[in-house]
Amino acid sequence: MWKDFYTDQPLWGATATWKTVNRNLEYLIRHHGSKMDRAVALARDVQVRLESIFFLLDDLCAVTCPWCPDQCCLVAKVWIDFKDLLFLHLNGHQIPPAQLLSDLKETCRYWSPRGCILPRIVRPWVCTWYVCPTQKSNLRQKPKSVQDQLIRAVQAIKTGRKEMETEFIRTVS
Ligand code: SF4
Ligand code: SF4
Repeated sequence: MWKDFYTDQPLWGATATWKTVNRNLEYLIRHHGSKMDRAVALARDVQVRLESIFFLLDDLCAVTCPWCPDQCCLVAKVWIDFKDLLFLHLNGHQIPPAQLLSDLKETCRYWSPRGCILPRIVRPWVCTWYVCPTQKSNLRQKPKSVQDQLIRAVQAIKTGRKEMETEFIRTVS
């Protein structure tokens, strides 16, 4: 099941595949009980780090996205990857009803004219870390301590996601 983590096509784009992968993950986490505690703790750490940068990302978005003539979400070919899905399951979040795209010709199903309809914590990591050129220039106007905080948090989240995945695979192997 895990052999196709890395692909150029959206993972689990078909509804049936999406349901299957989610059912399997739910089963594995439940089945391993307390052996999964370390993976759960790593997922919680990632969540705390993510939440620590949401205010800054919301702030950047508030002064850029509503007037954007070229909305990135309309052209983004991104999707929920294995680490994203694992993060959602280990933290007990509600799983979105479907993958963002079922093929590369589509627009993300969670885009709306008023922005993304998924709560920030549920969005794929790629949607969170992407800071577009307009936002980057806005960010450069902020104190260096704020810029550094974002850089450090992004690095820590990347590392934490890898550790969470490694621990999960170790547990179920
Ligand atoms: S992140 Fe940047 S490109 Fe995307 S909608 Fe906001 S301003 Fe536009
Ligand atoms: S999930 Fe939300 S933020 Fe990500 S591409 Fe879709 S609409 Fe944009």
